[in-house]
Amino acid sequence: MRADDCIFCKIINGDIPSRKVYEDEDFIAMMDVSPATKGHCLILPKDHYANLFEMPEELAAKALPIAKKVGAHLKEALGCEGLNLVQNNGEVAGQTVHHFHMHLIPRYADGVITDVTWGHTNFSDEEMDQIFTKIRM
Ligand code: AMP
Ligand code: ZN
Repeated sequence: MRADDCIFCKIINGDIPSRKVYEDEDFIAMMDVSPATKGHCLILPKDHYANLFEMPEELAAKALPIAKKVGAHLKEALGCEGLNLVQNNGEVAGQTVHHFHMHLIPRYADGVITDVTWGHTNFSDEEMDQIFTKIRM
């Protein structure tokens, strides 16, 4: 299941080269072409799903164990002290390639790091309670 206009589908098809570091039946992990830090990788399913909400649950459930496996390997191979997992869904969330992917961003204690942070929004207690009422499941 591929999408014609999707760069990640073209990579999975072998039409565009990539630095593939891991592959199994359902997923690949490859180096990000424009890395935030040394060893920044992406985990993506071989089938095309635009984002987390489009993915079947059984496939989504496989993503985190792969992140753990590849992440542990990056720690071992590169000596990073930490790792950010980032997964953007939708343009407003910063997603630029609309084929589900999870960023693995190794973090180092040497200061040569980029921020993976966001600001904070102040809500009153009343507003927090209203939001809580809407989102509790
Ligand atoms: P996102 O903003 O979460 O959609 O992230 C998309 C990521 O894909 C960015 O970090 C890009 O650097 C990366 N990217 C785009 N094209 C390629 C490519 N051909 N090979 C590897 N990574 C890519
Ligand atoms: Zn795709």
